[in-house]
Amino acid sequence: MSTSQNTLTTVAIADRFHAEALASLKTNPALNIVPFDDASRPELQALIVRSKTKINDAFLATVPRLKALVTATVGFDHIDIKACTARGMRIAHCPDSHTAATAEHTFALVLACARKIPDLNIAVHEGDWTRDRHVGVELSGKTYGVIGLGRIGSRVARIAQGFGMKVVAFDPYRDDSYFEERGATRVGLDELFHLANVISAHVPKTPETHHMIHCYRLGLLHADSILVNTSRGGVIKEEDLITHLRQKKHGRFGLDVFETEPLARDSGLLEWPQVIVSPHVGAHTAEAFRAVSYEAAQNLISLLKDTAPTGPLPPPEEWYSAIRP
Ligand code: NAD
Repeated sequence: MSTSQNTLTTVAIADRFHAEALASLKTNPALNIVPFDDASRPELQALIVRSKTKINDAFLATVPRLKALVTATVGFDHIDIKACTARGMRIAHCPDSHTAATAEHTFALVLACARKIPDLNIAVHEGDWTRDRHVGVELSGKTYGVIGLGRIGSRVARIAQGFGMKVVAFDPYRDDSYFEERGATRVGLDELFHLANVISAHVPKTPETHHMIHCYRLGLLHADSILVNTSRGGVIKEEDLITHLRQKKHGRFGLDVFETEPLARDSGLLEWPQVIVSPHVGAHTAEAFRAVSYEAAQNLISLLKDTAPTGPLPPPEEWYSAIRP
């Protein structure tokens, strides 16, 4: 290796990444971008991943020189933060690029549930114009319940208000003025299930949020309620949702995330026409992919220069320190 190569930082990108953002990284004279493979791992000093790459002790043992890690995602439950910080690594996630895409997908699922769009599509394909079977519900004048009033939850609240809905929200880690600024009424979680006609979850995956929507809360849903989850699988206890559907047969559900992904083809969730599913595509837009790739590239450079990335990890939010072991 030449002297100049020795001063370069060896970087790899483990998962999919926008070509333009990659090209911009390649113009950085301080970086040596290499393919991510078994041969490059011992040399890597910096790495960009997405949620497909699980960062745990076993993985970290294969990249002994790694000092900077960026995940080009909002969620960071695929990263063992403690294991990374114990090795003195600097890490970051990318919270700024996925908000619009995920909020819009949440509302796509809400509207698909409210107006039974998948059923209507099948009906027309089958020449079935018996419209009486497909009566929808309106959103205007109803109550929307947001669980987790962060970036995505706040944007969903704004969209709901645009539909003429009253917004109630549950987020124990935000203060009253934060709720007021968003025009949302603070409620407890059970109260939210009592009050809301439409509910969506926008919480991170933590021990606190695991199975936070379980049989008791599902039992509080109104007969024509809509419940959407675009946050993380496991926030809704799927076993309880299947039991709820079998016993009560009511409610409409929009699910983008699942306890196990890909969702098994024989999952009980797929037996119900009122359960509308998508394959974890909340943030999957052309705009978000480009933006998050650039955000990750910039965050990587910030970590290497010891300046602040958009999403330093561990996050400064109170909710994380509250559950940190
Ligand atoms: P954010 O950090 O801005 O907001 C999360 C909010 O949840 C915060 O306000 C926090 O106070 C609150 N919270 C934490 N613990 C809570 C609890 N126990 N009960 C209630 N509220 C709690 O994050 P964001 O950008 O809004 O993203 C939210 C989640 O959406 C991410 O953690 C990620 O897992 C998920 N996500 C999914 C997709 C997708 O493709 N489906 C895309 C992007 C993000």
